[in-house]
Amino acid sequence: MNSASPECRRLLAEVAQRDAALLADAFYATMERHPQAAPFLTNNVVHDRLHASMMRWVQEIYADPPQEAATVVAHQRHVGEVHARIHLPIHLVARGARLLKHVLNNQLAVSDAPETLLRETQTYAGQLMDLALELMSEAYQRNTQRSARNDEAYRLFSLGQNMSVEREKQRSVLLEWGQEVLFMLHRLPQPAVLPALSRSEFGLWFHHKASAMFEGAPEVELIAEIMERVDETLLPQMCVPQDGEDASRQLQSLIMTLQTELDNLKFQLSALFERQLEVENGRDTLTRLLNRRFLPSVLSREIKVATERHTQFAMLMIDVDHFKHINDEYGHEAGDMVLQQAAMLILNSVRNGDFVFRYGGEEMLVMLVEIDPQVACRIAETLRHRFETNEFLVSMGRKLQVTISVGVAVYDGHPDYQYLINRADQAMYEAKQTGRNRVCVAP
Ligand code: GH3
Ligand code: MG
Ligand code: MG
Repeated sequence: MNSASPECRRLLAEVAQRDAALLADAFYATMERHPQAAPFLTNNVVHDRLHASMMRWVQEIYADPPQEAATVVAHQRHVGEVHARIHLPIHLVARGARLLKHVLNNQLAVSDAPETLLRETQTYAGQLMDLALELMSEAYQRNTQRSARNDEAYRLFSLGQNMSVEREKQRSVLLEWGQEVLFMLHRLPQPAVLPALSRSEFGLWFHHKASAMFEGAPEVELIAEIMERVDETLLPQMCVPQDGEDASRQLQSLIMTLQTELDNLKFQLSALFERQLEVENGRDTLTRLLNRRFLPSVLSREIKVATERHTQFAMLMIDVDHFKHINDEYGHEAGDMVLQQAAMLILNSVRNGDFVFRYGGEEMLVMLVEIDPQVACRIAETLRHRFETNEFLVSMGRKLQVTISVGVAVYDGHPDYQYLINRADQAMYEAKQTGRNRVCVAP
């Protein structure tokens, strides 16, 4: 990067110095029109501060003589950290940089520098900007990962709290709020305002804790809607002074509506906790096997361990043969019973340190950790044999014979875990194609 000629550096520094404000203006004018970027820029304080720091940034990276390298590097990393903290999508940063490069090139072009110097300067300007971006992205990446880990740790911590105690507590604070409202309504004079549900102890818990504990659950959305209806519509209606004959009837009807909303809320709350109990232990409710959601975490970790310690691991993709037939012939419940027994059979055939996931309906995935390819194949074959010879019990003492097709894939160093899953899947498919009740190994 030091290869640029003194003239080139001087020209670049001059233009950057002179046109820094113009560059920052162009940046904002364009980015403010970008629907994803706008929310990060429209705030006035942000605008003023960012505009000034954008100017300083341009002047810094193109300064002549250059500023202390360590300082510039540290500054770029800091910017990357800030971007990560505010969750600014990285493609927007790249877009901003592209824009700045373009404007800068135009400004260079209108200088009266000779052609060769102009080309050299434009290239050099681009390289410096890329370098700054590279440093930012690196810090961005590091910080995003760290914060994702923290988020996850916090989520696990919240999950670690005793769910049944929490559930009872929230039910009772909800009940208390309802009673308080009723009590106030039946007291004279009538209250001018009623305590908002969202500001109640329940509301605070819901907005601040539940959102982390139950992230992504559909009930969260529904509960938020109920709370909004209660606070925005129902409570204000209850406070409107009413007289005449209808007054008490109207109030009664509003109270009934409130009761219905609260019942609904309690129902959603129960469903929410119910769901969480499943997530809490990370297991599939029918088979008690690991939930597929954990597969990426487990696989990424295993790939990391295998790479660092030079160990091997293998994956078995297991699919029950003609399972649809079992459902059709003996009923869905029988199918469920077979799945439960299949899961037990698999769990009892692998080691404690191995992972068994329910991958799909009647598909199970086994991760055999630290294992030789030959041993992995032997385990797969033993498993196939155990299924073939096992009697699966369904209702009324009926016994079924169930077979499986297994695809084996040994980790081959490819860093993308999806690639390994695909190989295991293809091998399983081959086992199906070549007659089922067999084990095939991925090349
Ligand atoms: P193949 O040998 O090719 O695998 O045939 P198959 O019948 O096993 O495969 P297919 O994918 O056609 O059918 C799988 C069936 O598994 C369809 C679905 O209804 C059933 N299934 C999926 N999940 C469950 C479950 O949890 N319980 C029950 N009882 N059936 C399930
Ligand atoms: Mg299947
Ligand atoms: Mg099947």
